[in-house]
Amino acid sequence: MPTQAWSPSSWREKPIAQDVIYEDKAHLEKVLTKLRRLPPLVSPVEIDRLRVQLADVAAGKAFLLQGGDCAELFDDCSQDPIEHKLSLILLMSLIILHGSRLPVVRIARIAGQYAKPRSKPTEMIDQQVPDGPVGADGIQKTKTEKKEVLSFRGDNVNGYEADDRAPDPERLLGAYFHSTATLNYIRTLLLSGFANLDKPLDWSFSHVRSPDIQKAFAAVIESLQDSLDFMKVATGGVRGGERGGTETVDLFTSHEALLLEYEEAFTRAFTTDRPASFSPSPSRLSTPALSRSNSHVRGVAETNTTYPHSPVRPPKSPKLSDSFHGLSMSINDLEKEATPKYYNTSAHFIWIGDRTRQLDGAHVEYFRGIQNPIGIKVGPSMEPEEIARILDIVNPDRIPGKVTLIGRYGADKVERFLPAHIDAVKKTDHPVVWQCDAMHGNTKSSKSDPNLKTRHFIDVVTEITKSMEIHKQKGTILGGVHLELTGEVNDEGFSVTECIGGSMELEDKDLSFNYRTHCDPRLNYEQSLDVAFLLADYLKS
Ligand code: PEP
Ligand code: MN
Repeated sequence: MPTQAWSPSSWREKPIAQDVIYEDKAHLEKVLTKLRRLPPLVSPVEIDRLRVQLADVAAGKAFLLQGGDCAELFDDCSQDPIEHKLSLILLMSLIILHGSRLPVVRIARIAGQYAKPRSKPTEMIDQQVPDGPVGADGIQKTKTEKKEVLSFRGDNVNGYEADDRAPDPERLLGAYFHSTATLNYIRTLLLSGFANLDKPLDWSFSHVRSPDIQKAFAAVIESLQDSLDFMKVATGGVRGGERGGTETVDLFTSHEALLLEYEEAFTRAFTTDRPASFSPSPSRLSTPALSRSNSHVRGVAETNTTYPHSPVRPPKSPKLSDSFHGLSMSINDLEKEATPKYYNTSAHFIWIGDRTRQLDGAHVEYFRGIQNPIGIKVGPSMEPEEIARILDIVNPDRIPGKVTLIGRYGADKVERFLPAHIDAVKKTDHPVVWQCDAMHGNTKSSKSDPNLKTRHFIDVVTEITKSMEIHKQKGTILGGVHLELTGEVNDEGFSVTECIGGSMELEDKDLSFNYRTHCDPRLNYEQSLDVAFLLADYLKS
């Protein structure tokens, strides 16, 4: 158990995995100073609300859908890609909600998912070099040579192009501003009726190769449309929003908190329950529309729309006898004032990756001090007794909804490792959300091009269904899934071709058709909806 005092920077005293080494430390410091001044992206109210919703997931009263890119690129920060991602997650959640009759908590890997851990710090790339002198025809022959370059670590560290691999601190500012623009557009879309279900849903199943599956999907949609039509009437017609209608939903943001300098800069202290006069005016700071509960979707009561968390400013004088702004404070108030809570305000939910979860390491140290709900990747290399220890460190108060264990074993390994992990947690009194990341244990090389990474749809679905079965046997609950997916299309409107299989029956030879990811392969639009239909079906039974 850690006994040392925690602070947003106490991770600096610990060994750190996957560190980024910047040449120009003064430049880094200048950027961090700027980041520390920039406003938060998300608020404590929103973060707390997600934690409450995740407590419902832990208790089996809601289902968690988390998904998005492996790595966002700054170039993805554009209208169409954001709309495609958002609409895919909303559609998936609607399908799951309809089948399972459970409220769906949506978390996107978006608005900050830029940094990537890598298995190796460098990689070999092919480069063209001159081969002999320029010929009499004026043409320079070239040959391919291997060159070792630093690995691409994500757009907030270095560039994808081989000549742009030196870490550049300026990219941290780029990450903030691209995250901000992305989140701003998401909020704008949601507040402008993007999630409005009053419009009829436009579905096409022409991509579905099997007539039986096509029929099954169409039947689900018919029933879903029927329910929506009913709800429209029940909640007051097309303008049903005012009566708890169908106009907007919650969507939370997440990323892997890998670059701790960046995370530290957005870790801000807030106090709760301070005397009202110390709180910023609710009329200025509340976000009524985003706070509006969608009781039709979540089945929960209206949540508080005020802003009870006040940024911590040091009192002018710390003496007990002092008064603050003319109001005398009780000792109690001063104690609250003296123990602020820290929120990572760069995203609602952040997770620790499989490569950075060392018990005595910098990342675990950072994570143990923040209020946000957090994820911990758990794979075959995690010893069962380590799980209990990491839970004690990051959630000593056993707060429900605080920790999501994100299993990422692989379809062929989940039966070997998950049962012991469940037993280890059952021996404790930790309330966790169990989530299945059905992607990261299932990465394979393409047969037609060994340089391309791919995943098989069948492995993804198998890992999810096996996880559900194992939890059922153990008397625990698989609360959600974690997927790498994208609704992105090329200029001709074709979905990406990065994973094999699904109802459109993509084959290995199809991968190069529209392979776009700079990192891990993602389920495309159709394959993602396939997963949603299957999940809805499993959760029904
Ligand atoms: C990821 O989620 O993109 C990732 C790198 O996962 P993991 O840490 O589980 O390998
Ligand atoms: Mn990935």
